[in-house]
Amino acid sequence: MSLGDEQHGPAPRGESTPAPGGSSRPSNASAGRRVLHGIPASPGRGAGPVVVLPAPVSEPPAGVRLAPGADVERAVARIDEASAQVQAALRAAAELTEGEARDVLAATATMAADPTLLDDARTRVRTELLVPERAVWEAAVRVAAQFEEIGGYLAERASDVADVRDRLVAALTGRPAPGLPVRAEPFVLVADDVPPALAARLDPGQVVALVTQSGGPTAHTAILARAHGIPAVVATRGLLDTLADDDVVLVDGSLGTVRLDPGVDEIAEAVAHGRRTRRFEGEGRTADGHRVRLFANVGDPRDAAAAAAAGAEGIGLFRTEFCFLDRDTPPSLAEQVEAYRSVLRHFPGKRVVVRTLDAGADKPLPFLTDGAEPNPALGVRGLRTAMTHAEVLETQLEAIALAAQAEDADAWVMAPMVATVDEAQDFVEAATRHRLDRAGVMVEVPSAALLSGQILAHATFASVGTNDLTQYAMAADRQLSALAELADPWQPAVLHLVAATCRGGELQGRPVGVCGEAAADPALAVVLVGMGVASLSMTPAALGDVAAMLSRVRLDEAQRLARLALGAASAADARAIVLRELEG
Ligand code: PEP
Ligand code: MG
Repeated sequence: MSLGDEQHGPAPRGESTPAPGGSSRPSNASAGRRVLHGIPASPGRGAGPVVVLPAPVSEPPAGVRLAPGADVERAVARIDEASAQVQAALRAAAELTEGEARDVLAATATMAADPTLLDDARTRVRTELLVPERAVWEAAVRVAAQFEEIGGYLAERASDVADVRDRLVAALTGRPAPGLPVRAEPFVLVADDVPPALAARLDPGQVVALVTQSGGPTAHTAILARAHGIPAVVATRGLLDTLADDDVVLVDGSLGTVRLDPGVDEIAEAVAHGRRTRRFEGEGRTADGHRVRLFANVGDPRDAAAAAAAGAEGIGLFRTEFCFLDRDTPPSLAEQVEAYRSVLRHFPGKRVVVRTLDAGADKPLPFLTDGAEPNPALGVRGLRTAMTHAEVLETQLEAIALAAQAEDADAWVMAPMVATVDEAQDFVEAATRHRLDRAGVMVEVPSAALLSGQILAHATFASVGTNDLTQYAMAADRQLSALAELADPWQPAVLHLVAATCRGGELQGRPVGVCGEAAADPALAVVLVGMGVASLSMTPAALGDVAAMLSRVRLDEAQRLARLALGAASAADARAIVLRELEG
């Protein structure tokens, strides 16, 4: 995470070398061949011009009025100018895209000229003397509420109104348009952080790499980058002080480096081979034939198609909330059936584990979660939202059952964030009422790991979510780059919790899998198998490397490595001991 002369491999964490010349934002010409360091978050290389993601627009303060004696009609005219500017920008962006994206941009441009919205805003300036940006904001809130009241197709357009509102406010306050910029050429997206709703829509054809200043490797933005095969580096200190639009960089998501001004050959090499990954074919097995099922983690039909193409044996984690991140209202039964079917249909005859909505923390769903909670990661998230919105879980379980009936995949269902035996039992009963007889739980809270024997007396399987299990065991926010060393699944305390979960599984004769990012680390995958983990679910790009590593190790060796890792005093020691043994 340092900025310095080119060096090989990542710099030690926390070390920082000031930019030559001490300038906070050196120009390209003076930059030379320099490297920024962050945390590797999605493998592969990508090169291209930088596009900095504009900061989101915030609500203009209420009650701010025009200065006494100000020209009211001039203020009204500024709304029309902003509308024209936003329409022109959206139409120009539409010209650069095609298909559905083009239609969406054209429809948004039409919305920016909506007479109801603009008349309402003009009236608020004339009668209440509000500043134009506040008038637009209030008018948009009213129009969106009307759309939601009418329901159906118009309710879905409420989020488009919010998009247009933000664009108008940005134009009126002289800021860059919010959201993902549209460019004719592929680019490297640079941001402080990227909200998951936006990360879910990233197109690898457009965004060749992603670099963020904050965030951690198991935050959902990084997970989405991996799912889309976009090389990514997170927690890159000094990023926004160093890079600006149109700087050219080479991003290495495996090393965690961002090189300024790469050579032409390096760019060509990155473009040609940047996302090359080892192929996975067949089935996961250790050297002595012990079977380990290798599944994929997906968030939508596009990911499912990629997972099938990558040879995944099935889906070990379908994050259903990723289908609905941009929704203000709950998806209907029919919409959900359609979404789930379009994932299931890629895996006929194979297992697909559908996780019920895991809303909360860095994945808020406005129709389920309370944005005002003081501690969202410890709040009403995951299965806990069933306490406040029981009907949403019931509808989802029915949708999963209907989708499963209509397709040939072997659909299993599981609940996120289970903390008690009663929660597990209630969930399994609810699933059974909806004809879903393979109902399991995620083990993400230490209490569930410790009580896995009792939980697995009810649930048919457990899947360890090492991202959250690490966050809660180590009391280290997975989104906080400063705590990345604590939020490491190699922490022996986390490994002991996984081992405890496996013992519970053995006691009840029920399988325990891992679907957190730990499953994608080949050396850690060996340790997990040595503890008794039966399946590993990961981003499809990691399948080949994990399969290759497992095929080199016998089960008894994996068990020995697991014992060594469990006996280590720190994450660094556990990793170093296992890597040394694997390489030796
Ligand atoms: C996990 O916590 O490890 C997990 C797989 O769930 P998510 O990353 O979606 O929170
Ligand atoms: Mg989780």
